[in-house]
Amino acid sequence: MQKKIIALQELSKNLWWSWDTEAKQIFEELSPLLWERNNHNPIELLRQISDDELVARCNFDFGEKIDRVYSRFTAYLNENNTWAANNTPELVKNPVAYFSAEFGIHESVRIYSGGLGVLAGDHLKSASDLGINFVGITLFYREGYFRQHLNHEGWQIEDYPLQHPENLPVEKVTRADGKDVIISVNIAQSEVFAQIWKLKVGRATLYLLDTNINANESHYRDICCRVYGGDQNMRINQEILLGIGGVKLLNQLNIEPAVYHMNEGHSAFLTLELLAQEHSKGVAKQQAIDNVKSRCVFTTHTPVPAGHDRFSRDMMHYTFDKYLARIDMSFNDMMLLGSEDKEDTHGLFTMTVLALTLSRSANGVSKLHGEVSRNMWQHLYPEKTVAEVPIGHITNGVHGSTWACGYTEQFWKNFTDDIDEMTFSREATEAVLAKISDEELWALRYNLKRNLIDFIDRYLANQLFHQHQHVGFLQNDYYAMQSGTNTLSPDVLTIGFARRFATYKRAPLIFRDLGRLDRIINHPIRPMQIVFAGKAHPHDDAGKDYIRQIIDHSRRPQFAGKVIFLENYNLGIAKRMVSGVDVWLNTPVRPMEASGTSGEKTVLHGGLNFSVLDGWWPEAYNGENGFSIGNGESFENHEEQDSFDAEKMYSTLENQIVPSFYERNENNIPVKWIKKIRNAIATIAPEYNTHRMVRDYATRYYLNRKEN
Ligand SMILES: *Cc1c(COP(=O)(O)O)cnc(C)c1O
Repeated sequence: MQKKIIALQELSKNLWWSWDTEAKQIFEELSPLLWERNNHNPIELLRQISDDELVARCNFDFGEKIDRVYSRFTAYLNENNTWAANNTPELVKNPVAYFSAEFGIHESVRIYSGGLGVLAGDHLKSASDLGINFVGITLFYREGYFRQHLNHEGWQIEDYPLQHPENLPVEKVTRADGKDVIISVNIAQSEVFAQIWKLKVGRATLYLLDTNINANESHYRDICCRVYGGDQNMRINQEILLGIGGVKLLNQLNIEPAVYHMNEGHSAFLTLELLAQEHSKGVAKQQAIDNVKSRCVFTTHTPVPAGHDRFSRDMMHYTFDKYLARIDMSFNDMMLLGSEDKEDTHGLFTMTVLALTLSRSANGVSKLHGEVSRNMWQHLYPEKTVAEVPIGHITNGVHGSTWACGYTEQFWKNFTDDIDEMTFSREATEAVLAKISDEELWALRYNLKRNLIDFIDRYLANQLFHQHQHVGFLQNDYYAMQSGTNTLSPDVLTIGFARRFATYKRAPLIFRDLGRLDRIINHPIRPMQIVFAGKAHPHDDAGKDYIRQIIDHSRRPQFAGKVIFLENYNLGIAKRMVSGVDVWLNTPVRPMEASGTSGEKTVLHGGLNFSVLDGWWPEAYNGENGFSIGNGESFENHEEQDSFDAEKMYSTLENQIVPSFYERNENNIPVKWIKKIRNAIATIAPEYNTHRMVRDYATRYYLNRKEN
């Protein structure tokens, strides 16, 4: 009896539950209301339910289910016959140490901002599934990224609720004698201390560095306050803690990584600490560099020069003064490692240059991004042609079980015992698809869309109430407005657009010609509806203005109730949107989307991508498995680019997407549409997932084989 409660408690403390449909169901069924209200956090949920209730219900409501989930969980943790054991046994012995400034694992653990973090979280989960010995390193942001509200003018308001460790699946790392493990880093003239937390994600462990301790002055405690918050000074402090602090934490815990993986340049200072350790062993300068290089790999994510972290020479001097004295490295030697111009170290220190200089291999995150990166960094390799620049690519994917978890996974399980096999081969996926009728796929689509629309109804009621209460809205006005606000229908072609509101993603592009959009949305027999969500960075007023514009448009009479903006985009909203919509829209300015992953999430739900040929899409798009906006045309002039892409978007909607969605056979099934869905699942699901991606990293980058 008590055993079942202990099992539930234990399950709540390993984020494995977040990609197990049945485990999630247990938590949700305990109290759907508390589950929703606590942001799907099982630790908070369990705390709010009395032992009496748990005892009573665990026995009768959930008895077998808990046992079944728990034994699946322990079997998972103890499995020895994994992909890694069979293919990369080297990576079972010593861990891969994966450094990332953010990890998006679940919406209840708010230590991520957007795609980079979600990618890191999905990477961690697949590494665990594949049996790779894997540790992640990041910071414990007590306020996380902000929670987004909109005011009545449609302007984004940020607030930063605190995350308490006792509400998270984290555990303090302590020494054998029970005292906290503490590491320290030098920043300017100070010694800054950090305690360490660990968070279990299946078999993988994520370590979180935390400066929130009394030994630190308050401005150093703030290093672990917000994801990408603050100024350049905060930024460099966070990156020192992540890179240098991260290496020190691994040392303290006696973890000897097989390889250090830098996910984006934020963590590149780790190479300095590794160099320092070489120096302290008396290794000569060039040999030390070679040794460090042989242990590090680097993934770049930023296709525009301005997007890379750069620090001024003065800032570097001020911040690293004490550190350099300790590690026996001259300031100029350090500047040289991060300078784009090797003849002149008086310019900026670029984190990407440091990472490229001190890693044995580097990669971009899609084929196109690999090419763009080789062009962008060719000047660092004057003796090489662009094609020879040592930056390859591994295209990003998504974690299948996380993104299909729930109804969709159960749907697929009707047709296959091993949903994971669909992430391995096209043949296996096609064999599964062959067992499924068009009617079944169409029912899946309806179910998922209904689910999203019902959710939006509840969510919007709350959102609109908060949005307008400050301006003296009366309850009655609010209800009047609310009725007619969400008139979404599951019969209507539904477009989704949700991601960070970085301006290059051009969220408002579809509103360029309001008359034309009106005719598409309000077509008498073939209408369309659009759901938006996304956060702008708190310092990005242009991004916030994009949100405001969309809110404005959504209030025009012709769009009211048909164009919806959902506030506070996060992993939970993402899951609902990618599963519910028919078409996932993406409109970046090519080639600024290094990869993008959100479109990959929609595929197993039967969603189709409609995107500029940027990031992962030019690799995946075959003419039959979704839709493209244009053909990769580029213009110097922004206005021209926007006009061109908008025109292509409208004409593709009018001539291809809308007609094929509404073309039905005698049983009211859109046969051609479903054919596209099948093609998308067969060609995209087996390729654009993190199992494939992590296997590629393991065999091509983590194992130090010469051909790389
Ligand atoms: C997947 C995801 C992203 C990445 O979206 P892109 O369209 O690839 O930029 C960002 N935020 C959240 C919450 C996500 O789930």
